[in-house]
Formats: sequence, structure tokens, C-alpha cells
Amino acid sequence: MNQPLPASRQTKALVADASGIAEAAALLRAGGLVALPTETVYGLAADATSGTAVAGIYTAKERPSFNPLISHLPDLATARRQGLFDANALALAQAFWPGPLTLVVPASSGCTVSDLARAGLPSVALRVPAHPVAHAVLEAAGRPIAAPSANRSGRISATSAAHVLADLDGRIDAVLDAGPTEVGVESTIVACLDGAPRLLRPGGVPRAAIEHVIGRPLVIAGDAGHAPISPGMLASHYAPAARVRLDAEAPEDGEAWLGFGPEGREHAASLNLSPSGDLREAAAHLFGYMRRLDEMGRKTIAVARIPEHGLGEAINDRLRRAAAPR
Ligand code: AMP
Ligand code: MG
Repeated sequence: MNQPLPASRQTKALVADASGIAEAAALLRAGGLVALPTETVYGLAADATSGTAVAGIYTAKERPSFNPLISHLPDLATARRQGLFDANALALAQAFWPGPLTLVVPASSGCTVSDLARAGLPSVALRVPAHPVAHAVLEAAGRPIAAPSANRSGRISATSAAHVLADLDGRIDAVLDAGPTEVGVESTIVACLDGAPRLLRPGGVPRAAIEHVIGRPLVIAGDAGHAPISPGMLASHYAPAARVRLDAEAPEDGEAWLGFGPEGREHAASLNLSPSGDLREAAAHLFGYMRRLDEMGRKTIAVARIPEHGLGEAINDRLRRAAAPR
């Protein structure tokens, strides 16, 4: 993003003992950002149930687009409150959790993972990490924790606390130092959404081990490293039914209106991402407000101009995708 974030926070280096773990969990519960060791790489953790906490991840990483994030849980029982596990998902969880496997499953009706962490999707990505320190923090935090790799966007994943600090010192509340991570590659991601499990990203659990458990070959979605999924297979991006008109001055007749900043507009079908013009608040509201306006059934959603700096870049990226002709 084009405006550098001022190094405004004092980043604490916490030792991964009982008191460091308790402090990390308390920071997370309070909406803070904490880099945590997992068995794959260091994760930049935030409360997945809080849109504003999740928005902080994007600010710290300077990530220019919103992707769905993986939510981490201490065990299968808590994971099953967030998502619906079919027979394959259950077999994979039982075989590989705790461990470097992420399962993308339909969100349950009681799912508490925020819209921003799910990037507006009806599915949720869940993982139970094996690292004892990560596990202890997740137990103490008592809620799903979103944690993409703890590096700035475009740099390599951090596998030690020193790597984390090289990228994120002054941008996050703490790093919980438990030495270098062991696997150093990210989790394997498998989607169990409609019967045939799909490999979305290769990673720490080998494909053959997964195929052994499910007793069939995995469907491969897109190329290694990312999850571009061919149209119709899985909605990898949230898309509203309504047409989206960007950089609007005002709604036209019959349009729904998504505002930003102080405007004092009175309109039947309008929501304001942040009346005070706070981009972090706007990011937290983006997917939920788009869905609410879409559900009003208007043909078009007109969207106010969002500044292109800071989190505005990621917000505009998402809005442009929503506005792209389909
Ligand atoms: P990471 O940056 O390691 O947290 O990676 C997150 C990965 O999980 C990205 O490749 C996402 O596209 C993928 N992912 C997370 N949630 C979902 C979902 N609901 N549907 C499809 N892919 C997902
Ligand atoms: Mg990464």
C-alpha cells in the first residue's frame, strides 16, 4: 500500500512460557496482533471473530487485497462448531489434526468467524495446529484465531521470531518467541464442500497421504501456491447479485447506496462503511454491508469513492472485482 504505516506500536518480544502465552492470549482477546509460532511458519494472529482485529492484519502486512484467512482452533470439537464436516472432512481431520492441514468446509449456522476473515464467502477455512505453544494460546484465547504468515506482503514467510521482527517490528503488539519453526512450508489446503475433496494448495501434508485417507484421487484446483478455482467449481470470490457502480457521487433512482465518510445522506437503502472515514472500520464492514444491500434486491449498488491509501487499496480491489462484468 502506498502510505507507509508509522511504526507506532511497541512490539513486545514474549518468551513462550506460561506468562508469555497468557499475555499473548490476552492481547488477542483485546483485538491485538500477535505473531505466533506454528509447526509450519510464524502466523500473524488476530481474533477471527472481530472484523476490526482482522483488518489490522491487512494493515500490518500491507496486503493489497482481501483473501479468506485460515481460522485456527485448539481441537476438532471447537472446529466443528464453526464448520460443517462431511465424512471426508471428518476422516481427514481425524487423520491429520493437529497438523499442517487446512480444511475448507461450509460455515455452520453458528459460525463466529467474521465476514472479513471469510472474505464474504459461505465457507470457512479451519486448522488445528500441532505446535504446543500455538495450541496453548488457542486454548487460552477461547475463540477462532486468524493467522496468515507473519511477513509483509510479497516477502517470504517468517520461520523465526527474528524474521517476524525484521518485517513487522513496530506494526504488531507482540511476537511470541518459541524458536525456529519445523516444517517451514504452509499447510496443505483441502476443500470439502460438495462431495469430491479438492486440493486448493499443496503444503505440509503430502497429497498421497490425503488420498490414502479418502480412498480416491484429489481433484486439483488451479496451480500450486494459490487457489484460483475454475468457474462453477467453487466461488473463490464473493460476488453480489446486483450490479456495482463505483466512485459514485450519489445514488440514482432505485439504487442501493454504500457510503463512506460523513455525508448526512438520507436514503431508504443505504449503509455507511464508516461515517467517520476510518478505513479499518470500513474494511470490517465491507462484506457484511455488501451482502445486506444485495439482499434488498435493488438492481444496482452505488458505492461512494473510497480513498486509495492504506486499507483503501484492498477495499477498492474487492469492490472492483465485485463490479467486474460477469
Ligand atoms: P494463508 O495466507 O496461509 O492464511 O492462506 C490462506 C489460503 O486459504 C488462501 O490461499 C485462501 O485462498 C485459502 N482459503 C481460505 N479460506 C478459503 C475459503 N473459504 N475458500 C477457498 N479458499 C480459502
Ligand atoms: Mg504468506
